[in-house]
Amino acid sequence: MTLRIAGLMKESVCDGPGIRFVVFVQGCFHNCSGCHNPQTHNPEGGAEISIDELLKMIDSNPLLDGVTFSGGEPFLQAAALAKLAEHCNRRGLSVMTYSGYHYEDIVETSENTAWRELLRRTDILVDGPFIPEKATHEIPFCGSSNQRVHNFRE
Ligand code: SF4
Repeated sequence: MTLRIAGLMKESVCDGPGIRFVVFVQGCFHNCSGCHNPQTHNPEGGAEISIDELLKMIDSNPLLDGVTFSGGEPFLQAAALAKLAEHCNRRGLSVMTYSGYHYEDIVETSENTAWRELLRRTDILVDGPFIPEKATHEIPFCGSSNQRVHNFRE
């Protein structure tokens, strides 16, 4: 199984709690004005990588606390990310997912089994589009104040 990605960050302390491996997925249709990552929008851009290759990189770093899926829009590749998240869960790594969709939209799309599975495998969801008028550095892990952090394990 493969993922189309815009990039990777092998260690980050800014994209969720602790030290995290960050997957920036390729493809997004939200078109938030002021988006900082417009190069991630084209679903045919970026590069393909296999889940196995990603797991090898993740396994090579014993310091990791978790893995973060950022974008782009992770739910456009929900099936592959849910599979990756399942392996991360098994390794005791937490999974954090950013989405331009709202939690309620994701739940309403629950007939989409891949979306449901990715949500089920996600420990922390940061939801909602980036709104430049509401941009803030005050709320941990959020780019704008309309975004919400759902910690499903608390
Ligand atoms: S959801 Fe994220 S990647 Fe997509 S347009 Fe909005 S800010 Fe950019």
